[in-house]
Amino acid sequence: MKYAVLATWKMAEEGTKKAARMLAEGKSSAEAIVEGIAMVEDNPDFHSVGYGGRPNAEGRVFFDGGFMNGDTLHFGAIGSLEGFRSAIRIAASLQDSDANNFLVGEGAERYAAAHGFERRDNVTPEAKQLYEQEKERLKELSAYDGHDTVCFLALDQNGTLCAATSTSGLFMKQPGRVGDTPLPGVGYYADSETGAAAATGMGEEIMKGALSYAAVRFLKDGLSAQEAAEKAVSELNDTLIRRNGYANPMSLIVLSRDGTYGIGTNITFTYCYASDREAAAVHEIVVERK
Ligand code: ASP
Repeated sequence: MKYAVLATWKMAEEGTKKAARMLAEGKSSAEAIVEGIAMVEDNPDFHSVGYGGRPNAEGRVFFDGGFMNGDTLHFGAIGSLEGFRSAIRIAASLQDSDANNFLVGEGAERYAAAHGFERRDNVTPEAKQLYEQEKERLKELSAYDGHDTVCFLALDQNGTLCAATSTSGLFMKQPGRVGDTPLPGVGYYADSETGAAAATGMGEEIMKGALSYAAVRFLKDGLSAQEAAEKAVSELNDTLIRRNGYANPMSLIVLSRDGTYGIGTNITFTYCYASDREAAAVHEIVVERK
């Protein structure tokens, strides 16, 4: 395949179309996936990413995001960042140096401000209302099932693979909580010589298996994208069930360097894919929970 793009959830549909158009025009995978994610971040109808994202336990919206370039293996990431328009643009800009690639909290905010990134209050009236409604009911729960991450993987016409992620994380998360999304190897990984992977679901669970790196290792061992995705998720899922009696939701997208893709998931999951051979479309995998 000349180019391909793979993304998590139906919310990525318009972004996938845009990324595919950019890849067809010869733009880089880095440019295409940052634009694809930024479209999701700007849409208040998507409640787990960007503007209108899920508030934390204090009613404030904080972002996690990461970016990796599969040619250089350089990455950039931000965690627990409040008050800016685009987590992914800030994260991607951090890939250039050899140090300070992953900034969190106040340090990330100071960096974003110093580099002229646009500020934005991401708490919409709808998010505020939801928070007020649910805060009493959710006091006792550690994780509320109202979260998703937008992840994009792309292969461009130069053979470069990149991965990018953005989320507001778990609804009602504790202040300071950082999920899997900005962690290279866990929430995302890209190696242009092999393939790329990215994860969505319960971050604390995904961290237990360094899920994205696990899938890329399986590609390196010669598995197909589908085999690698399935093996990474099913091994971790089965291990967690054996050790703890349950496994929380997790889904993984994998794009190999030839543009073929695979999905591993322990829940019903939607994703978007496009390539020079296939028009952008949303697909669904239905999984009965064990
Ligand atoms: N992985 C994200 C987190 O734990 C949430 C999600 O993708 O559903 O913050």
